[in-house]
Amino acid sequence: MISNEHKTKEMEDPLVTNSKDSEFDALVIGSGPGGYHSAIRLGQLGKSVLLVEKEKLGGVCLNVGCIPSKALITVSKLVKRVRNGSRMGINGQVSIDLPKLQDWKQSVVNQLTNGIAALCKLNKVQIEYGTVRIKNSREAEVVSKEGTVISNVSFRNAVIATGTEPIELPNLKFDGRRVISSTEALDIREPPRSILIVGGGVIGLEIGMMYANLFGTHLTIVELLDQLLPGTDPELVNVVSRNLQRLGAQIFLKSRVKGAKQSDESVNVEFETQDGDSRNVTADYVLVSVGRRPNTKGCGLEKIGVELDARGFIKVDKKMRTNVPNIFAVGDVTGGPLLAHKAFKEGIVAAEVIAGLSSEADWTAVPFAIFTDPEIATVGMTHGEATSIGNNLLVGRFPFSASGKALASEEREGFAKVIAEKESGRILGFGIVGSESTELISEAVLAIEMGASLEDVSLTVHPHPTLSESIMESAENALGKAIHIQNKPQGKSK
Ligand SMILES: Cc1cc2nc3c(=O)[nH]c(=O)nc-3n(C[C@H](O)[C@H](O)[C@H](O)COP(=O)(O)OP(=O)(O)OC[C@H]3O[C@@H](n4cnc5c(N)ncnc54)[C@H](O)[C@@H]3O)c2cc1C
Repeated sequence: MISNEHKTKEMEDPLVTNSKDSEFDALVIGSGPGGYHSAIRLGQLGKSVLLVEKEKLGGVCLNVGCIPSKALITVSKLVKRVRNGSRMGINGQVSIDLPKLQDWKQSVVNQLTNGIAALCKLNKVQIEYGTVRIKNSREAEVVSKEGTVISNVSFRNAVIATGTEPIELPNLKFDGRRVISSTEALDIREPPRSILIVGGGVIGLEIGMMYANLFGTHLTIVELLDQLLPGTDPELVNVVSRNLQRLGAQIFLKSRVKGAKQSDESVNVEFETQDGDSRNVTADYVLVSVGRRPNTKGCGLEKIGVELDARGFIKVDKKMRTNVPNIFAVGDVTGGPLLAHKAFKEGIVAAEVIAGLSSEADWTAVPFAIFTDPEIATVGMTHGEATSIGNNLLVGRFPFSASGKALASEEREGFAKVIAEKESGRILGFGIVGSESTELISEAVLAIEMGASLEDVSLTVHPHPTLSESIMESAENALGKAIHIQNKPQGKSK
């Protein structure tokens, strides 16, 4: 009999295995969205699977990404609505207990990660904790944090789903206290008075606006390029920029950080503006969010000759195969847009290909969801992309200020925009900025996926009163027949 003190982790938790000397149909390395989707789908298809994770089940998305950030953002929007509710007759003060909010956020994360463990068990996926080091194209070892080999694994196929980590700037190294990445920024326990954000991309703006809405945190944003949220239609971004200005944020575009000096309480950052001026700003925290780099080092990819691209991401084909026939890669480690839902689908494709199905990845209609205030969501081509490839276009817009539901929700900021080929009416892209746009975009994704035309969307009956009517009315506007706004005649392209 084994006493409690001597119970090992795998004995306490029947989901955790010791896979010593086992052979599996598939070894899945990393349990983020790409890895756990792949593992569960493989299990559903009757394959024996070992899922190995070196940190926490669920990867970045569940533990330090999508879920914790959206939990905090949801609360920040709720707080903002109540604070601004005097027009709707809501009076009173709101106070936020940040440690309690953080505990609630963590309970959401725990519920989801436990759910993944249970789903793995249901689908007979074995889980092992440790770092995978590939030895050759059929064998790997799983190593503990201390460097001891926990088990040796033989596999017929492997799925690399090792994700990414935040990029550190050479002149602004993370110290986990004042110079932080998104991981620490999502776990702050005392209301920040000020944050300087290096990189005005999705992650920096989402987190910054969340704290500004919760606590009035002063934001300074230093972005190297000439617009915030680079790559997103500037017409949509303008609505978010206006809101940032209303929040009192200072935005420096085409500006470059030169260095920083930390103390126990704050950090002073020096940066060069687009006019060549040198500026100094002191803030409680510097959030460095300048991108993420692939986790390809240390797991033995070089031993089997897996090819990487110039930026170090793993090269794959549409079946998620690397150049080594039985080695697949999915999710952020393969580059492209770093999105959980892209990783989900890639994980499924790899699993199905391993099981002999004829699946392929098709990224014509990948939605982008940006949880700023207000939200932005897009799918397909941007207006700029469609124009640059010379399409003769029809463009329709519908402002939320003309939507009954938006007014009844006091969410009048934003609009829906559709871009279509003039001749065929085929929809090329959609962009929505405004409340719930990350929910609304799914209709637009389906429209593009199904090759829908403006007429298809405009003839579809939408429930009233809903924000989704804005999508229908934007298509009607492109056709010159939206009911709730004046339709301007369209020239060749607008
Ligand atoms: C703050 C933030 C907010 C985000 N919000 C969103 C959002 O709202 N929507 C969205 O779509 N995306 C969002 N993302 C991006 C999303 O988190 C990623 O696209 C997603 O997590 C990628 O999944 P993945 O499976 O490729 O990798 P990851 O989630 O990075 O998981 C990889 C896993 O592999 C493990 N691992 C690495 N090497 C080894 C090894 N050698 N052996 C064993 N295990 C290993 C790691 O520990 C990790 O758990 C956000 C990201 C961040 C940082």
